[in-house]
Amino acid sequence: MEGKGLQMDLRAFMDELQAETPADFVRIRKPVHPRFELTAVVAKLEQQRRRPLLYFERVEGTSFPVVCNLTASRTRLARAMRTTPAGLVQRYLQVLHEGVEPHRVDTGPVKQVILRDEQVNLLDLPQIVHHQEDAGPYVTAGIAIARDPDTGLNNASFNRMMIKGRNKGSLHLTTGKHLWEFYRRAESRNQPLEVALVIGVHPAVELGAVHTGSIQEDELKIMGSLLGKPLEVVRCETLDLWVPAHAEIVLEGVLLPHVREEEGPFGEFTGYALGTRPREIFQVQAIIHRRDAVFRDIAVGHADHLLLSSIPMEANLFRAVQAMIPSVTAVRIPAPFTAYISIQKRAVGQGVNAILAALGAELYLKWVVVVDHDIDVFDDRQVRWALATRVQPDRDVVILPNARGSDLDPSTLEDGVTSKIGIDATAHPSLEQFTPRHRVPPDLLDKIKLEDYL
Ligand code: MN
Repeated sequence: MEGKGLQMDLRAFMDELQAETPADFVRIRKPVHPRFELTAVVAKLEQQRRRPLLYFERVEGTSFPVVCNLTASRTRLARAMRTTPAGLVQRYLQVLHEGVEPHRVDTGPVKQVILRDEQVNLLDLPQIVHHQEDAGPYVTAGIAIARDPDTGLNNASFNRMMIKGRNKGSLHLTTGKHLWEFYRRAESRNQPLEVALVIGVHPAVELGAVHTGSIQEDELKIMGSLLGKPLEVVRCETLDLWVPAHAEIVLEGVLLPHVREEEGPFGEFTGYALGTRPREIFQVQAIIHRRDAVFRDIAVGHADHLLLSSIPMEANLFRAVQAMIPSVTAVRIPAPFTAYISIQKRAVGQGVNAILAALGAELYLKWVVVVDHDIDVFDDRQVRWALATRVQPDRDVVILPNARGSDLDPSTLEDGVTSKIGIDATAHPSLEQFTPRHRVPPDLLDKIKLEDYL
């Protein structure tokens, strides 16, 4: 593989991994079928609690090798962000303040192969069908880059794409999110929205794409912050958009106004395969890629997927809660639509304020549990203990009906309309004034040697 070291891209990251932690990089030479077999290898390994990066050299029906599990461990994500697993959220927050402008270059490796019009064929890509309930092959690691028709600001987001033909895909836009808003703005003027779908980049760039902040925040700058250097970008062949120059593959196309076609069902991060719905159509007019491009696949609903999305979400929630409660101590996303938040409560009422801040900051949240700082939110047993011993349901549960949530939540009656629940599991009125915990004197616990007794 070329392009070694100089640029922070997917292959530089894989080279680094092979050199420094070879057990974390597994090359599979046996040909695999894109229909279920690839995902089956990921799932089987996960049953054994193994999550190495998987490099499938030979995938039937395509010339592109496929990489899976790129972001399936906190250790690998920490490597990508030049920090430790424990420091991930704080590192993410630190870089959000910086915002490094992308660096425009004339050309880059992503333009080694340029396919236009009749040459475009999405069926040449790996036709990966992840789960048996899926409607067809999906591109799951596509980062959609688009520009706000009103402000000109960029947005980058992961959007699943169902492959529907040689030059046609269906893109899943999440209602209420930034790409959806851009599309609605373009559609109201009867205009198509230009979208570049970027596949195969450095994991720090992927983390930037999962950022869920304000529509005013440009994810390309966040990617640069996460990389620690400006993201090199080239202008698309057929669109007025700039994409990572060292990406593996870019699909250039437009979301057509006023056209919807059926998409799904598709097995999602929720653990459910969701039903068919009318979705926007992505008409692909050019494909650019590296000569020996690697196709990145996200094993949907597995560690690869869940970890990648939870770290930026934890960071975003930490920031939002901190704006209201400066003494917030930790945030964790333990399950879909759920956040655990710990705060050092300094005044009565801050538990509910933390709930409001969190629900206001993240569309997908449905459950928020707020605990005192003596509870470790990364330990489920401690959170359950706080729920059991510090909560009076009639006093501490807040329920907000008829809000917008995830349209991938199968429990909602209407498409994504949900009630939201917050539980203030902090001690009332304060931890200091609450019934004391019983404790064995800590100095005695330190001093005794079990071998003296057993
Ligand atoms: Mn955005």
